[in-house]
Amino acid sequence: MQPSKNFLKKLPSTHKLLSSLEDEFPEIKADILKKLINQHLEQARENPALLNLAEKSKDEIEIALRSRLSDALRALQRGTLRKVINATGVVLHTGLGRAPIEPSWMESLKEISAYCNLELDLASGKRGQRNDHLSYLLRLLTGAEDGFAVNNNAAAVMLMLNTLGYQKEVIISRGEMIEIGGSFRLPEVMKASGCILREIGSTNKTHLRDYEETIHEQSGAILICHPSNYEVQGFTHKPALEEVVALAHDRGLPVIYDLGSGSMPETSHLAGGYEPEVNAIVRAGVDLISFSGDKLLGGPQAGIIVGKREYVQRCAQNHLLRALRLDKFMIKLLQQTLLQYFYKDSSQRILAHQALQASEQELKKRCENFLNALQPEFRKFFQIETTPGRVGSGAYPLLHLPGAALRLQSEKVKASRFSKLMRLQEPPVITYIEDEQVVLDLRTVLPQDEPILKEKVEKTLKELLARE
Ligand SMILES: *Cc1c(COP(=O)(O)O)cnc(C)c1O
Repeated sequence: MQPSKNFLKKLPSTHKLLSSLEDEFPEIKADILKKLINQHLEQARENPALLNLAEKSKDEIEIALRSRLSDALRALQRGTLRKVINATGVVLHTGLGRAPIEPSWMESLKEISAYCNLELDLASGKRGQRNDHLSYLLRLLTGAEDGFAVNNNAAAVMLMLNTLGYQKEVIISRGEMIEIGGSFRLPEVMKASGCILREIGSTNKTHLRDYEETIHEQSGAILICHPSNYEVQGFTHKPALEEVVALAHDRGLPVIYDLGSGSMPETSHLAGGYEPEVNAIVRAGVDLISFSGDKLLGGPQAGIIVGKREYVQRCAQNHLLRALRLDKFMIKLLQQTLLQYFYKDSSQRILAHQALQASEQELKKRCENFLNALQPEFRKFFQIETTPGRVGSGAYPLLHLPGAALRLQSEKVKASRFSKLMRLQEPPVITYIEDEQVVLDLRTVLPQDEPILKEKVEKTLKELLARE
């Protein structure tokens, strides 16, 4: 609908809005304020129905626009990336930033925030390598000869492929041609890395002889990919890793392994499931192995490469690394993550592991305590039920972690309204809806956030019931 001439005349001038906004935000540059004002005026012209401006008087329009502008600026100042409370029970939730990190670790970031010895060897005073801060720890923990880290596992895979397989054939089993969330598709990753894809075998069966018959002088490497987010079951076959490694080495080829989540002994056996351990893959003689820092490892976003020194060094000297390297903060956080694995109680020290290992009994108890703390009139809306928690991010695709959660059961409270209002709280609370009922899973709620969650549940229920 075209706004009437009359309405356009009632809109305040940029100048007028600017002077009142400058009074409220004297520290903000005038040209930023002007841009914001013009955007809002444009919106008002295009859509007078917004804020019911069309029916308002000249003064009312000005007041409405001013308060909208001031809300918008305050929201901008606060920043769009904010803390949320994860009540979904999905531990490695990609949308919510994957592995949660212990807030107290942030202290160590403050220490290095101004200057630090990122690329300075303090002993000799000479230029150092930023990866020196990680390689020793990675060697100790994984048993590999060498290791370092890049921006994420996708980058690690590209770097390994580009280093060993550029303009050569990289052999991969059809059963491992994976696609994982966020557009990581192996055929495309291979192409982008400059490799020629050489598929072998079939989706369900690949034999050693398929590898054997495919290796020739154009071959650069064999790639093995852990199918993180699915499982091939039934009439299947793949050769033992040791057999593939022996064959490759016999023919002078390196083996690259994209392990994905990459578990340490702490997380390799969860609830009856199994995720291959980095150390086991190293022991099998694989030349280069990559895995994520923010999946089962429980640290910041990073891609870790470990393996034989010769190949790790070749990756580290690839010019691509310049575009994939980590900054000081991620190196520090990753160092801190790796250090936790030195302690006997490592799983108590890593938030993701605490959440993954919480038992059904423990979670039931937490639910009971949560309900008991809730104002009595709201308790009746919830039921405690056994429900599976999920690992998330493709790790342990078929695994259901035995757990318990709170289910909101009420004729009066609509699930979609409740979950939306919870999402609009400060901090926002993210829940999930199952069978048209809201479920709150405390597995992923930090204990120190429980009182906040309780307050938000009460506030939201009060609001929804008052509207009845
Ligand atoms: C998750 C995953 C990746 C991508 O890792 P990011 O850290 O998300 O870049 C690659 N390969 C496998 C097998 C994965 O599971």
